[in-house]
Amino acid sequence: MRTIKEIIVHCADTPEGRDNKAADIKRWHKAQGWKDIGYHYVIDLDGTIEPGRPLETAGAHCTGHNANSIGVCYIGGCDAKMQPKDTRTDEQKASLILLLKYLVAKYPGAKIYGHKDFAQKACPSFDAKAEYADLCKS
Ligand SMILES: [Zn+2]
Repeated sequence: MRTIKEIIVHCADTPEGRDNKAADIKRWHKAQGWKDIGYHYVIDLDGTIEPGRPLETAGAHCTGHNANSIGVCYIGGCDAKMQPKDTRTDEQKASLILLLKYLVAKYPGAKIYGHKDFAQKACPSFDAKAEYADLCKS
């Protein structure tokens, strides 16, 4: 089993309100030549938590951090003009907290970050590290 040190939150870089699913992201990632979807979980607009890549397999979502992390992606993250925007629905916010609590319990000591903590990106369009800091306290 992999050692998980980081749980990294992403956005799908899709425009607000567009109802994409994990299957869409899988298709986009495979079109880039990847063997599978890069994330381990996808949170749909309605709050559905969809499984992506198996947890025991390293993801492809954060350069230099894939070996010991889990990638969680919510659908959205951009406004209609494709500028970064926190577009999380109430359902997505609730599901993110549920999933992150589950992962922190499953992998004690793992910390929650946003992609932007490790890359020059806006992803996930909000400060995940600060917002979820309390979830990591045990
Ligand atoms: Zn990202």
